[in-house]
Amino acid sequence: MIIGKHRNTQAIIDLDAIKVNIQNEIKQLKQAQSLFAVVKADAYGHGLLPVAEAAKKAGAKGFCVAVIDEALALRQAGFDDEILVLGVNPASTAVLMAQNKITCTVGDYDFLIKAQLLLKEAKQKLLVHIALDTGMGRIGFKTKAELKQVLMFMQNYPQQFEFDGIFTHFASADSEDETYYLQQLTKFNELLSVITKKPRYIHVANSAASLWHRKCGGNMIRFGIAMYGLNPNSKINTPFELKPALSLVSELAAVKKVTKGEAIGYGSTYRAKEDEWIGTVPIGYADGWLRRMQGFKVLVDGHYCEIVGRVCMDQMMIRLPKRYDLETRVTLIGEDHGNEVTAQDVADYAQTIHYEITCGLAPRVTRLYKSK
Ligand SMILES: *Cc1c(COP(=O)(O)O)cnc(C)c1O
Repeated sequence: MIIGKHRNTQAIIDLDAIKVNIQNEIKQLKQAQSLFAVVKADAYGHGLLPVAEAAKKAGAKGFCVAVIDEALALRQAGFDDEILVLGVNPASTAVLMAQNKITCTVGDYDFLIKAQLLLKEAKQKLLVHIALDTGMGRIGFKTKAELKQVLMFMQNYPQQFEFDGIFTHFASADSEDETYYLQQLTKFNELLSVITKKPRYIHVANSAASLWHRKCGGNMIRFGIAMYGLNPNSKINTPFELKPALSLVSELAAVKKVTKGEAIGYGSTYRAKEDEWIGTVPIGYADGWLRRMQGFKVLVDGHYCEIVGRVCMDQMMIRLPKRYDLETRVTLIGEDHGNEVTAQDVADYAQTIHYEITCGLAPRVTRLYKSK
């Protein structure tokens, strides 16, 4: 019995698109710079393992994840590449990370003190990337004094810690206004002046910085959203074309004619304006297709069809231009007969960003992978 393959509500992932996006980015890099594929949150909803494999084939040197379990999932699947956990974790996880050669982000002195004892006891050495908070206000050290203290501490315990990298994260690398980005970069470079022996990796660039601020420097790029073919800021052109990897499709599960005035869905928020063909599509907010998508238009046979009535947990209704057969394809994200709905369109309508739309697709949406 195979579970997870019996649903025609599918996210179709074009692994070749992911490869092309990565290869195009790598072409822009300097010799000494390497690309790390950011595959946190189940590869932004695209599926961790297939995406990681495609990224590696395309030339990604390593991976960034958000949490330890994501790194362990990669290890368990046989990936022996470098993996950086971007989030901070309690000291009690230090030995586990060291044992699995998972690179740890450190943004707190207390962590090092506690981890040192545990690592010594377990005779393990932890690879460390130091996080600097230059204006994101999230994690990391903020002053030269703090940084000196942690560098000194790690130097004193070479059996427990290897200072492998140092980085910061931009709050607005995707903005047209460069002021804050430049402030952060200046602060980062100031803090770096404290370092006497450079670690292997110095990095600042997320997708946005790598696309629009090539000069930001560093020898590692944390390439996330753009590898999935999504523009971090759709209002600014990207230096090379990004190819979206994900489309979201379903099909008509029911089709019926309703007469003028008949109500559709919970709360009867929609009433047929005339005699209409209504289709039912088996996707709902439990799939990550948000309830507030009522009124948005999806594609059937190349026609834009409005979502009528409230989106339910598992189903929604759309108004069709005519009768269609059951199992006719419904495209919620992607192309159909030359028309297109993008993840950006969905995000705009839902008043959020496309990151949240793809990450929010529930596991029960079947992932289907295609590649030549
Ligand atoms: C998520 C994340 C990234 C990737 O950001 P994109 O905008 O998707 O490229 C890079 N660095 C850090 C620290 C992150 O948390």
